[in-house]
Amino acid sequence: MDTRKQQIMVSPDASQIKQYEQMLESLSNETFSAVPHRSYKFLANVSTNMELDKVLQYGFDGIGLYRTEMIFMNADRPLTLQEQYEIYSEAIHKFKDKSICFRTFDIGDDKQLSYARAYKKGIENYIYNKSLFETQIQALIKANHYNHLQIMFPMIASHDEFVFLKNWVKDIQKNLQDESSIKMGIMLETKEALERISEFRDVDFISIGTNDLILSIYHIHRDLQTTEMKQYLHDLIFKLKQVVEFCDASGIGLSICGELASIEPALREFMKIGVKNYSVAAPAIKVLNHIYKEFH
Ligand code: PEP
Ligand code: MG
Repeated sequence: MDTRKQQIMVSPDASQIKQYEQMLESLSNETFSAVPHRSYKFLANVSTNMELDKVLQYGFDGIGLYRTEMIFMNADRPLTLQEQYEIYSEAIHKFKDKSICFRTFDIGDDKQLSYARAYKKGIENYIYNKSLFETQIQALIKANHYNHLQIMFPMIASHDEFVFLKNWVKDIQKNLQDESSIKMGIMLETKEALERISEFRDVDFISIGTNDLILSIYHIHRDLQTTEMKQYLHDLIFKLKQVVEFCDASGIGLSICGELASIEPALREFMKIGVKNYSVAAPAIKVLNHIYKEFH
């Protein structure tokens, strides 16, 4: 493999590598004997394949959120189908016996690409960057080696948007003459989707993105959400309790993948309302284990 390709395929930029190394260093003396969490799933949020071995080592049950836009942002041109196939395949092979959920590229705001225009976060990015979306989906489908592919759409604002994207993925799959099983779900991270949650009966799963959801409902930027938590936590929990009840009644898998899932007081509240699946940055396994033990 030539150096250029290797760089595009697996490596984040220098500052990301440094940040990641620092994070690992701070963890080097920790042990993460996973607690026996039975009906709970502790999942990890990742942005590169570099993080996968640590996630396995810490005993996570899988990847709850693979932020694929980071792969796109680390390149200066659209990645080819083959390049993406190799990245997704590597991750899927590593998580053969665990779950792995890829979020389709979520660009907009501070996440920009040098080679494609980003629209306001959401479905427009796929409609107006059609070939980027289709190539990503093709690569994911081809990499579905164990029939356990999960695809998640970000910033969904209505049920129609979900149906549109689901049908688009199905068409792509049909064109590839592929019959593998694919689960498709949404990130619940807009006020509009939350208000009409009962329409989403046909999604395979829902993952609550608290970072964008809190911004959408309470207009509080993600950087302030921990310090400002008192302002909104009570109300948010009240709203999310209804989501838990809806998902339980409809047999829809529910997880939380926003930052709040690793903030102790919030996590306690999520456990109280019956959320069983959490997806957090790798170091936060400590917080999950700690709070879980308080409850069991
Ligand atoms: C979220 O919005 O909570 C989320 C997990 O997505 P991101 O942080 O990538 O916007
Ligand atoms: Mg988000």
